[in-house]
Amino acid sequence: MTTEPVLPRVRPEIAALPPYKQGKPAAPDGFKLSSNENPFGPLPGVVEAVRSSVNLNRYPDATAGRLRAALGERYGVDADEVLVGAGSVALIAAFIQAAAGHGDEVVYPWRSFEAYPGLVLVAGATGVQVPNLADGRHDLDALAAAVTDKTRVVVVCTPNNPTGPIVTSAEFAAFVERVPREVLLLLDEAYAEFVTADDAVDGLGERVFEAHPNVVVLRTFSKAYGLAALRVGYAIGHRRVLDAARATQIPLSVTAQAEDAALASLEREPELRARVAELVARRERLVAGLRDAGWDVPDAQSNFVWLPTASSAVTEAFEAAGLIVRPFPDGVRISVGEEESLERVLAVARAIAP
Ligand SMILES: *Cc1c(COP(=O)(O)O)cnc(C)c1O
Repeated sequence: MTTEPVLPRVRPEIAALPPYKQGKPAAPDGFKLSSNENPFGPLPGVVEAVRSSVNLNRYPDATAGRLRAALGERYGVDADEVLVGAGSVALIAAFIQAAAGHGDEVVYPWRSFEAYPGLVLVAGATGVQVPNLADGRHDLDALAAAVTDKTRVVVVCTPNNPTGPIVTSAEFAAFVERVPREVLLLLDEAYAEFVTADDAVDGLGERVFEAHPNVVVLRTFSKAYGLAALRVGYAIGHRRVLDAARATQIPLSVTAQAEDAALASLEREPELRARVAELVARRERLVAGLRDAGWDVPDAQSNFVWLPTASSAVTEAFEAAGLIVRPFPDGVRISVGEEESLERVLAVARAIAP
């Protein structure tokens, strides 16, 4: 007879969380289209840069100084206005922890990045989810209206994961004016490189954090740069705001290899652009094919498409064809993957069109 061991007591809100479930791997002849990963490997020269970085007995540079300098140069900001983290999700966690604790509220759109609810909960704060509009865009009026004197953080995700649409520059400019200056506004631009809409907000190009020091822009090397395994992302904003997040970050979590890979990647801009252009072309083919098949696909500005559906049969049909997609209660997200995956995705989508 086995008896349940007595386990250490943990915070009740943590104990109530569902246990972690790893996504399914794809079969050898299948495609994993469930995590918005880049089907291309790292950019040329990146693997060599990681390989030459062999001082595994030494701690990395705690501040990722070379990468901050390179990013600062690229975006025309001081290196002190850049903070590097072990993926931008780690940075979002650090900012939320720095700004919001017990009794404080974090306002974010929903459905959006699946990590937000957990990060808010771990910080001990209360999440306020604001439903998106029917077309998958953020409801910025409702987001602004949800801000109260308890709000410490507001998150905007553009393009929104998993629905796909962007926030426009004009919409963001109006929205910023409605968020109190004491409230931290995180602009999550994890997919910025894939955006083709001319009117999209570009937090770094527009330097929104200059006129509005409560705005922090977050980007990552995981998606367009194809470095998801190495865990490296960055935040750009006011240095004092970044200091607060630095204080809550886990020290030395960005490895030297991740920093070297990111630096080498930044030197390969033409190759990056070519890959992004190829993925955008595939995205456009997917969107056109899916809409032709009768799916009501929202504007797709990242490296994934969204099929609004509550049916679990949809996910099963893709899986039966060797395509691992990402199901949600109100839709299915399909990443733009290998060239050979496109026709297979479209064939399934046509067969089960609503
Ligand atoms: C993938 C993603 C991130 C960050 O990923 P990291 O790998 O942690 O850099 C952040 N926000 C959104 C919306 C994402 O989809």
